Amino acid sequence: MSTPTAFWLAGRKATGEDSFDVTNSWDGRVVGTVSVPTEAQVEEAVAAAEAVQAEFAATPAHVRSAALDLVARRLAERTEEIARLITAENGKPIKWARGEVGRAVSVFRWASEEARRFNSGEAQRLDTDAGGVGRLALTRRFPRGAVLGIAPFNFPLNLVAHKVAPAIAVGAPIILKPAPATPLSALVLGEILAETGLPAGSWSVLPVPNDRMPALVQDKRLPVISFTGSDKVGYQIMDSVPRKHTTLELGGNAAAVVLADWSSEEDLEWAATRIATFANYQGGQSCISVQRVIADASVFDVLAEKVVAKVAAQVTGDPSDDATDVGPLVDENAAKRVESWVDDAVAKGAKLLTGGTREGASYAPTVLTEIPADAILATAEVFGPVLSLQKVDGADEAFAAVNDSNYGLQTGVFTHDLQTAFRAHRELEVGGVIIGDAPSYRADQMPYGGVKDSGVGREGVSYAMADYTYERVLVLTGL
Ligand code: NAD
Repeated sequence: MSTPTAFWLAGRKATGEDSFDVTNSWDGRVVGTVSVPTEAQVEEAVAAAEAVQAEFAATPAHVRSAALDLVARRLAERTEEIARLITAENGKPIKWARGEVGRAVSVFRWASEEARRFNSGEAQRLDTDAGGVGRLALTRRFPRGAVLGIAPFNFPLNLVAHKVAPAIAVGAPIILKPAPATPLSALVLGEILAETGLPAGSWSVLPVPNDRMPALVQDKRLPVISFTGSDKVGYQIMDSVPRKHTTLELGGNAAAVVLADWSSEEDLEWAATRIATFANYQGGQSCISVQRVIADASVFDVLAEKVVAKVAAQVTGDPSDDATDVGPLVDENAAKRVESWVDDAVAKGAKLLTGGTREGASYAPTVLTEIPADAILATAEVFGPVLSLQKVDGADEAFAAVNDSNYGLQTGVFTHDLQTAFRAHRELEVGGVIIGDAPSYRADQMPYGGVKDSGVGREGVSYAMADYTYERVLVLTGL
């Protein structure tokens, strides 16, 4: 048996006693074996994170900025190798994996720039009342403490980057826990972080098994939790540590709304292309994949025909092939779950327009319409390549349909009308409204997060930096 891949304990390589395999869901081959830290090693990492806090927070901004810039450059240099690894462990098509590395590069670049700008603070006059005469308030932000970052499988590098880069930018130690299905790219990021010379203890990458996570979540030396994953696990964590500062980036069933004014041939061609692409771009395993299309009756038929044709034409197959649009899901159980949800909808009366078949871990890109309200698909997050089409009359009905969901992450609204765009921004219960495109658009510096069951708090480099820190005021008297 080959030696398991080491994890990163307080900035250095280490191995534990146990290990687990990481498999490729396309062909079932083992792509890596990862060493699991012992309880004593986890304790060592947490103690080191606590011990280095003051030193790390005092590291000059230019040093942290340079470290982040080095990470960005090394990731960019190693793009192809890391993209291949993401494809191998996650099953996402190579073209999307390359895009993911590019986004992680931009996250580290932004963090490098923000590290220089952050915490200039502000001065506030206090002589607005008699008691404040001769006083001045100065504000600065300080890290809340060490961060526990917990990441999901669907963007094994970029969502890890969103936790690690802002922590380094503000000088907060971080213990990163990658998803069990996809720890390999996070461990390669560890190799790159080790080149930065950041203080020992300021970062660790620990593939801790899920059943040992509650102890880590409870640990008082990690007062900040940044979690991305399912609403079930996320809220369970938050409920178990109500006094911690917890950010939850959770799931969704994002909608693309197509309104009556989006009606030219060119408009509908663009909307159909974007919807088909972003329904299935990671096998539908993105929190802002298009799951629901809510289209005005006047454009519905033409749009539906175009969407179905484009989805049916998507190239499925080996994710390492450049031509592949849609690869397998993360594992066969995920594909079986999606299959059972589609079967349930069809049994209850939904119309299947294309797809609806499974082979191993691969589920065919699928479009349905007339999904009855009692089908699981009508309300739950499918997290698979399944799109539902819904016909409505006008913006009132469309926006009500968007809001008729427990989730609220992002919505895409295809309209040319500025008033409607502002109305969507005012009325939709989501963290972001994208006009003229699918809900799946995300630039990594944007504030990103949800409302309702989609989460609490915001990521996006500078937003996560604000989240990892708190404002402390200094009042000067006798001036
Ligand atoms: P998941 O909730 O199963 O796992 C997420 C992480 O939590 C993994 O690292 C897992 O090992 C860990 N975990 C599991 N049990 C735990 C416990 N008891 N205590 C602490 N950690 C525990 O999610 P997943 O299947 O990896 O990811 C898919 C979900 O993530 C989807 O719902 C998707 O919408 C969501 N997601 C959200 C965003 C966002 O930014 N809003 C982005 C990507 C994915």
